[in-house]
Amino acid sequence: MITYQLTIGYLYGDLMNIYGDTGNVIALKKRAEWRDIEVTIKQISVGDHLKPGEMDIYFFGGGQDQSQDIVAKDIQTKADAIKEDIEKGVPLLSICGGYQLLGAYYQPFNGPKLEGIKVFDVYTEASHDRMIGNIVIETKEFGKLVGFENHSGKTYLRKDARPLGKIISGFGNNGMDKSEGCIYNNAIGCYMHGSLLPKNPKLADWLLEKSLETKYGEKIELKKLDDDLEDKAHNTSTKKFS
Ligand code: GLN
Repeated sequence: MITYQLTIGYLYGDLMNIYGDTGNVIALKKRAEWRDIEVTIKQISVGDHLKPGEMDIYFFGGGQDQSQDIVAKDIQTKADAIKEDIEKGVPLLSICGGYQLLGAYYQPFNGPKLEGIKVFDVYTEASHDRMIGNIVIETKEFGKLVGFENHSGKTYLRKDARPLGKIISGFGNNGMDKSEGCIYNNAIGCYMHGSLLPKNPKLADWLLEKSLETKYGEKIELKKLDDDLEDKAHNTSTKKFS
């Protein structure tokens, strides 16, 4: 019996989707459907018109510099709608290249600075270091999170930015200040590819709960799932890579 419906806005999935990032959209969809929530995935890409209130969750994956160059120009046309939704509490998960374009700017090695849409009070600059490997962080909201990172961009938090978590192992935002990612309202940016959500079910359910709460105006308890496999994946990889 369908009681709730959610629309996932998949930002630039045709251009920004590397290292398994689409798996996050699949995980959100399945975990919602296993609770009889009807889910629609809406692809949003270059030239598409986006109005506030159309999406209940946003996902924005990682991508190479070339894709970021194309997306950076287009996302400016969607900035107001995305930011209005985020201010209302619509949750968003962004990974790596997507995260970078939600900050103030991304300065690649070659070519001009790519303006971001300033969801997060951060900025990113390309570096000679390739930060690649498994990453484990400690967070206030979700406990430990585990993923895989592969980036050369170094992201720096400005005064109003709150990090998603603290590095236990890996590089994170910039390999220097032990911070990883950024969280603002219910929007999250991070460097954790993998896919992130299948082995971090607590974060996946948090995104679903925030989405339902924002859309239906009430706290909606999600039915508990049998997360034996997900917990095994989380605990094994967290232990192994810490
Ligand atoms: N081009 C960006 C960097 O290397 C983002 C790469 C990615 O999304 N994995 O930092």
